[in-house]
Amino acid sequence: MDAKDPLAEAEGVATAWAREDLAELASRGLRRFLEPLDPAQGALVRIGGETFINFSSNDYLGLASSPTVRAAAQAALEHYGVGTGASRVVTGDTPAHQSLEARLAAFERAEAVLLFNTGFAANTGIIPALVGSGDAVFSDALNHASIIDGCRLSRARTVVYPHADPEALAQVLAETPARRKLVVTDTVFSMDGDHAPLRELLAACREHGAALMVDEAHATGVLGARGAGLCEELGLESQVDLRMGTLSKAFGGMGAYVATSRAVVDLLISRARPFIFSTALPAALCAAAEAAVDAVESDVHLRERLWRNIRRFAQGLRALGLPAEPRSAIFPVILGEPERALDAARRCRDRGLLVKAIRPPTVPEGTSRLRFCLSAAHTEGHIDLALEVLRKMGVRHAE
Ligand SMILES: *Cc1c(COP(=O)(O)O)cnc(C)c1O
Repeated sequence: MDAKDPLAEAEGVATAWAREDLAELASRGLRRFLEPLDPAQGALVRIGGETFINFSSNDYLGLASSPTVRAAAQAALEHYGVGTGASRVVTGDTPAHQSLEARLAAFERAEAVLLFNTGFAANTGIIPALVGSGDAVFSDALNHASIIDGCRLSRARTVVYPHADPEALAQVLAETPARRKLVVTDTVFSMDGDHAPLRELLAACREHGAALMVDEAHATGVLGARGAGLCEELGLESQVDLRMGTLSKAFGGMGAYVATSRAVVDLLISRARPFIFSTALPAALCAAAEAAVDAVESDVHLRERLWRNIRRFAQGLRALGLPAEPRSAIFPVILGEPERALDAARRCRDRGLLVKAIRPPTVPEGTSRLRFCLSAAHTEGHIDLALEVLRKMGVRHAE
């Protein structure tokens, strides 16, 4: 009876690791916390009984709560039930998935489209399906975490090139020996809202026989005459090898897709691990996304409202002496150290604005920030209130 039960101690080991790491994160202002919004959608949200104007959602067109999108999801929910029970290569495929892919292919003017469960799954699935050891992948220094992880998982040599710098890219493309070369970039950068110089990047790719993959997560539904993203805006839809987009931001739902050639889609079906080894998206989400694509294409007022808000906010920020360009729905106010960003977020909150502090590793050290995301659902009054709060706080950009 004296002998300790050898199994009794196992429980605490991971907990001890967690306590140690949490203390370290907290000491650097990098711990993250959850808070539930109820109900979640809309320009106005409620947290713990208080109402805030939401400036941290990527629901750029307000489609997450659109009645037509909800109705499409409900009808599909009745027809198909909730879960799909298996991966699409097993028994998880439905006509709702096929129909959405055909709809997205028309929207993107692409030969073929393949769905993924999330943007994260798309990037971590596509990159390793295309390149591996002996190959090289070239990644912008400010690319999204899911691209960084996709590069790591691929086992290709990863070359990070300076942000939005086609000349630097051309140089590393020339200097790096590899069997295959893949260049990957966000089109609208998620934490800064600036654009990749796609034309110049594409020219560098062509010169060096590299393929180009772009992530349009923050551009789909926002940029381009039909809302199909930066490639559409620049007339490069047919030139870019792979165009990844999400259903989770401007389309207001969940999931992601890649618009590319039939051959690439066929390869991904046979090789992209998050596609093969993960249960298919619920059909209700496919139906919702299809209704959202219809809304983006047919209702130009949605994007007009968003862009009116973008222009108004950019102008207002500049009037406060803060650098701002009307080029996407994302506006960073860079404050420097994590504690400064957290403090600014707390002060915004005291005045009714929900805007989250963005800290490393999401952004580089020393560039912690408030990141304002605008939506077509915001009113002029919401935009003006945010500007007034920033004015009263006397916010200054960090050098
Ligand atoms: C949000 C985001 C993703 C991930 O998309 P999810 O559908 O949320 O997983 C990928 N890339 C970029 C640039 C993003 O901003």
